[in-house]
Amino acid sequence: MLKIVFTDLDGTLLDHRTYDYSPARPALAKLQEKHIPLVFCTSKTAAEMIPFRTEIKNEDPFIVENGGGIYIPTSYFSALPVETRKSDHFLVISRGLPYIQLQEILARLSGECGMTVQSFDQLTASELAESSGLSLEQAQRSLQREFDLPFTIVSLHPNRSQLEAKVQQLGLRLIQGGRFFHLSCDSGKGGAVAQLIGLYQANLGGPVRSMGLGDSRNDLSMLEEVDIPVIIPNPLSIAPLADELPGGQRAHTPGPKGWNDAVLSFLENELIEKGKLNG
Ligand SMILES: [Mg+2]
Repeated sequence: MLKIVFTDLDGTLLDHRTYDYSPARPALAKLQEKHIPLVFCTSKTAAEMIPFRTEIKNEDPFIVENGGGIYIPTSYFSALPVETRKSDHFLVISRGLPYIQLQEILARLSGECGMTVQSFDQLTASELAESSGLSLEQAQRSLQREFDLPFTIVSLHPNRSQLEAKVQQLGLRLIQGGRFFHLSCDSGKGGAVAQLIGLYQANLGGPVRSMGLGDSRNDLSMLEEVDIPVIIPNPLSIAPLADELPGGQRAHTPGPKGWNDAVLSFLENELIEKGKLNG
């Protein structure tokens, strides 16, 4: 059965502070050697993901902006029974609302809640670089968003539940990542993961065994869709994944070292599928 690994990046494959992934090299090499797809599933933009994929020599599809879009290399699947648009070497499945629409919605709803927010479209690249630890070039790529609007809440005593309720009424989603809140489409990472698993199954004509790794609450829906969910501990996340995931297994170490050990265990069939934990 084909195995597939879905992974978050920041705080999961990449160290939360330094963005280093070198402790994960042994598992990355094993995945490549065994031709096991490694699908990045992050809140990052395609502009950020494409150079990173090249650096890490990854040639698999990837999910951007918290499930807002799926980028699939042209000719990766023999059949793609879904509407796509072409962008350079990729076919793109759009799952979210256009970015400009999200900006308008956040501005309106935060105003209705009497809340001051600072969203990505109000930031310059150098401001983002300073607050996130990204380089200026990385910050520029991070601001090239298509589907998902990250923001911080500036108000001291914000009425978050009121904002959440208004967002839900519109069929959208408010989630907390490791550094930012995100306004995005309702299905989040999970909907995109489920769609991509379906595409793999349709192309293979059979089932797959999927693993997922994540560190924050915005990874929960992704982890719910995979056979083997692994939580990477992240003491620095503003929204760590606690024990809210039935059947979730916890890596022993944060960041790329924990990631490496968990993926190697998956490849050795040492991890238990969540459906089999109680039975
Ligand atoms: Mg993360």
